[in-house]
Amino acid sequence: MPQTTSDTSNAVPVWGFFKSVTRSFTDRRISLWIALFGLVVALLVTLVWLAGRYEASQYQAELDRDAADAVSDLQRGFTHHALSLQNLQYKSLSNQLWHGEISGLLNQNREWLRVEKRDPQFAVVDQANSPFRMPIFDAHSHLNEQAEIIQTCVRAKRLNGPAYSRSYFVPQASGMGLEVMEMCLPILEQGILSGYTLLTYGLQEVLAIQLGDTYGRRNEISFTEPDGTRLAVQGSVPRTKRLFTATQLLDLPGTTLVLRMDGRRAGPDLFPNVLPALVTAMSIALVSVLVLLVKDSRRRLKAERDLADALAFRKAMEDSLVTGLRARDLKGRITYVNPAFCQMVGFKAEQLLGASAPMPYWPTEMVGEYQQRQAVRLAGNAPPREGFESVFVRQDGSRFPVLIFEAPLINVLGKQTGWMSAFLDISEQRRIEELSRASQERLQATARLATVGEMASLLSHELNQPLAAISSYATGSLNLLSHHTDLPPAQTFSDLHMALERIAQQASRAGKVINSVHDFVRRRDQDREVVRPQTIVDAVMPLVQLQAHKLHVRIDVKMDESLSPVLCDRTMVEQVLLNLARNGMQAMDHPDCHKRLLTLQVKKAASSLSHGWIEFAVIDLGVGISEDIEKQLFTPFFTTKPEGMGLGLSLCRTVVEQHGGHLEFEAVTPRGTLFRFTLPTASSL
Ligand code: ADP
Repeated sequence: MPQTTSDTSNAVPVWGFFKSVTRSFTDRRISLWIALFGLVVALLVTLVWLAGRYEASQYQAELDRDAADAVSDLQRGFTHHALSLQNLQYKSLSNQLWHGEISGLLNQNREWLRVEKRDPQFAVVDQANSPFRMPIFDAHSHLNEQAEIIQTCVRAKRLNGPAYSRSYFVPQASGMGLEVMEMCLPILEQGILSGYTLLTYGLQEVLAIQLGDTYGRRNEISFTEPDGTRLAVQGSVPRTKRLFTATQLLDLPGTTLVLRMDGRRAGPDLFPNVLPALVTAMSIALVSVLVLLVKDSRRRLKAERDLADALAFRKAMEDSLVTGLRARDLKGRITYVNPAFCQMVGFKAEQLLGASAPMPYWPTEMVGEYQQRQAVRLAGNAPPREGFESVFVRQDGSRFPVLIFEAPLINVLGKQTGWMSAFLDISEQRRIEELSRASQERLQATARLATVGEMASLLSHELNQPLAAISSYATGSLNLLSHHTDLPPAQTFSDLHMALERIAQQASRAGKVINSVHDFVRRRDQDREVVRPQTIVDAVMPLVQLQAHKLHVRIDVKMDESLSPVLCDRTMVEQVLLNLARNGMQAMDHPDCHKRLLTLQVKKAASSLSHGWIEFAVIDLGVGISEDIEKQLFTPFFTTKPEGMGLGLSLCRTVVEQHGGHLEFEAVTPRGTLFRFTLPTASSL
């Protein structure tokens, strides 16, 4: 995934902005969740309420239908009764037979309480009571309603069919009473009114017989006054139940009754039927899912926050790095660079991201080599662990050396997606190395000059002898030439010849002495060369001898046979050997020191670790090295000698270590010190 980088200076505001954006997102998300939760609860309540209402309206409609059906059942029943009575009238039966027939009808229709036969003047001619109860009227009581009866019968006559009276209450002997209604049917004989049949209905019985079976089980059925007063009731409903009421008008010729039906239902239930129950169950499931979602979102929020923290941490880390970082995909395109890398090469991240070979920071003349190196890397070859050096060009054209470490970039699935490289700008390191090398060289040159100064005094001492000899030979020769002696000329000539030969010899000896110093000072060959240990020893011997002579020291050289040649900077190693020999001889320049022997020993290194190495040892029998001196022995400018510079040993160690060897010393019994150093043989490398 390509990533861009930003300036370190921008990091803080960007992070602050990121945090405030995250906070506002979080606030908004919480209010969204609350709104969603509220909506779901409102939806759930509305659904349950609507479902309840729907169920109630369904039931109300059913009750209304039942009430309408009940009214039509009643009307059918009344019509049927009227027809039965009309049939009877047509038969013009004798009183006895009428009684028989009427008794039969009274048996069949229990809601009939009484049937009267009246003449056209409304006087009772005959009567029959229901066999199922005591007669409801005594001889006079029916007369109380005479006016109503007359009115009904007049209407019946006018209608030429049945007419019904208003209902009225008939008190009974038992203290109770009952609501009744009259039905009057005119009797016509050949078109002439011959009387009336008056049928008294018990309203309670009408409800029980005609509607009780069909509607009475679940409902309370009643006839009521328009003001709601109940006239007759059938069935009862527990008051605890939810009550539904339907009213229907029962229109009868002459009167109108109000039929009221009270239905009982277990309610209002929370789950009145399957639909609301289903809706509720689904809503509960929805709420549960919501709760799970909230939990999940909270977990996600936490993960997001952790991720943001980790990102901020990583960014701070990357920004604080001085190491340049660069990621490439498997095709060699740059997918990521950190600010340190951009700073190093002077290009912006946008200029580098997506770039592929040749990179803008490659030196033009090295593009081929770098491309080849990249091809090797992309082919899957791991780079050296310790890194490798390269040269890059900044945008301003300046070049600088870099140390590159590369490692494969592995993704979560363990698949390699590219290469991650770390860059160290080593130009400063190189500069310091160069400085240190130059100062080291200067120091060495100074030390050599100091040695030369020392040599000069030795030279004057050593040259004294040949010069004195030359001078005396020259004086002798001059004497021979100026004073003619008794000697024959041949003798004189031979003496002169000998004197001149001696002069020449002594001059050549003096020349050799001077040359040995001259050689030492002039020769400065930096390169390492393969040189035999013997040659090194031979080269320093004349100079060592010079000092030995002065300090009355005997030199003993012990060289193993057939030593392999060593690979070294010859001049420097010679100086090391010379320094050590000189130190050894100076250590023996003490009145107490009677035996003055300096041993130069060269042999194969004994330790198995230094197999293939040659060991040089310089052993003196001098004053030795005290503990105090030992601590500072290799510190530059530490010296115990009045004319010393204190650079000898520190330089010796540097030179030996530059060759990969090491310099050490140990005390020699009964007195003296041994200094040894090692050098690699040419064949061991
Ligand atoms: P310099 O010879 O100019 O003093 P060096 O670094 O060669 O500088 O030696 C430092 C000091 O170490 C000497 O001054 C001397 O005291 C001590 N030293 C070196 N070699 C020996 C030795 N073989 N025996 C005793 N002391 C030594």
